[in-house]
Amino acid sequence: MSTYQYASVPDDGERITEADGELQVPDRPILPFIEGDGIGPDIWNATRPVFDAAVEEVYGGDREIVWMEVFAGEKAREKTGEWIPEETFQSIRDFRVGIKGPLTTPVGGGIRSLNVTLRQVLDLYACVRRSRWLPGTPSPVSEPEKVDITVYRENTEDVYSGIEWEAGTEECEKVRSFLMDEMGEDVREGSGIGVKPISEFGTKRLVAMAIEDAIRDGRTSVTLVHKGNIMKFTEGAFREWGYEVARERFPERTITEDELWDEHDGERPDGKIVIKDRIADQMFQQVLLRPDEYDYCAMPNLNGDYLSDALAAQVGGLGMAPGGNIGDGRALFEATHGTAPKYEGMDKVNPTSLILSGVAMLKYMGWGEAARAIEDAIVETIQEKYVTYDLERQMEGATKVKTSEFGQRIVEHIRDGA
Ligand code: NAP
Repeated sequence: MSTYQYASVPDDGERITEADGELQVPDRPILPFIEGDGIGPDIWNATRPVFDAAVEEVYGGDREIVWMEVFAGEKAREKTGEWIPEETFQSIRDFRVGIKGPLTTPVGGGIRSLNVTLRQVLDLYACVRRSRWLPGTPSPVSEPEKVDITVYRENTEDVYSGIEWEAGTEECEKVRSFLMDEMGEDVREGSGIGVKPISEFGTKRLVAMAIEDAIRDGRTSVTLVHKGNIMKFTEGAFREWGYEVARERFPERTITEDELWDEHDGERPDGKIVIKDRIADQMFQQVLLRPDEYDYCAMPNLNGDYLSDALAAQVGGLGMAPGGNIGDGRALFEATHGTAPKYEGMDKVNPTSLILSGVAMLKYMGWGEAARAIEDAIVETIQEKYVTYDLERQMEGATKVKTSEFGQRIVEHIRDGA
């Protein structure tokens, strides 16, 4: 076990381990958490009692999460002088499952984003975001109940890999000269230049995760969302490698959309996952017009960033959108939104994004009963129109409550329902 200088490792819990590719979760797992910056403390303080109440009520005291605070962002900077101390990365390696609030993006200092750094250093290669409408939630679309789409966004490649050069710098000119002189490309003077790597390895492990999860969860399709008509050797290759990994690793459990129509007259055979692909721009209209035709969707980084926020809007906004960054045998769940600095310390914003991220975390740990108790309690709270400002402004006759009051009401419903 690593030593920790700033975090205290609780002595009354155990580590989650892994055996034969399966997580082994003890009854009292130690889970690291990062409170987050800006609105982070407000949403964490409302959220943690929800997890504790659900686990206590559902398992009658036989199970308990033993929380361990680890540091990142402004709190880490104050305590350790670093934005993310090494021990915070190590805590996710040691304890395998954690949860975080939003982190500020430092301006200057060589760090592009603390979130991107956490995902890349820990090789949490899939950002998994489910957008599902919860009854009672206000939505800008007419049939939000048709939306239940999970985005598997590649986290480590694409234009997010951070390989770019500023216009006018010596490095940029060097790359431009190489492209023009050696590769025969025409790059306009004064351009900034970025590189978009997409690999077979990165694509296949992401798409395989989406297919494996779809099989495990009894889902119907995995759609590859790409812009391969234009970017043939990156996004187009993503599409090809996606179909390839389905054929190679899951031949008995997958069929393509062509096979579905050519051989099965459009009727999905029981137990088969349909592999489809869609061009990214048209996928944005598909999820508005025919969202019920899509289920799990795998895509490169930038497509996933855009599409998951658009989907979040359909089911109630960023305050309702959960997320998890998943790697092999480890995961860090997180609220999808940022630090919303203008609301810091006001006890105002919606904590549901973080609460639903915890729901995904509990399911990942195999504690699905506690996860469902929380989902039911959220629905009850929203249906009685006892909501934070973001939902209240879209609802008729709702009561506007604070972050803490909303969390407390969910706890009450969990206790009532048990
Ligand atoms: P943001 O913090 O997500 O906030 C944008 C707007 O979204 C808010 O003004 C608010 O809209 C709404 N919103 C966000 N969280 C909400 C919640 N819990 N409840 C209700 N409404 C919520 O985006 P930003 O202002 O662009 O970014 C602020 C900082 O966060 C930046 O430093 C950014 O880099 C960072 N960031 C971090 C993460 C992360 O940690 N995962 C993700 C994105 C951004 P209204 O004011 O209209 O109500």
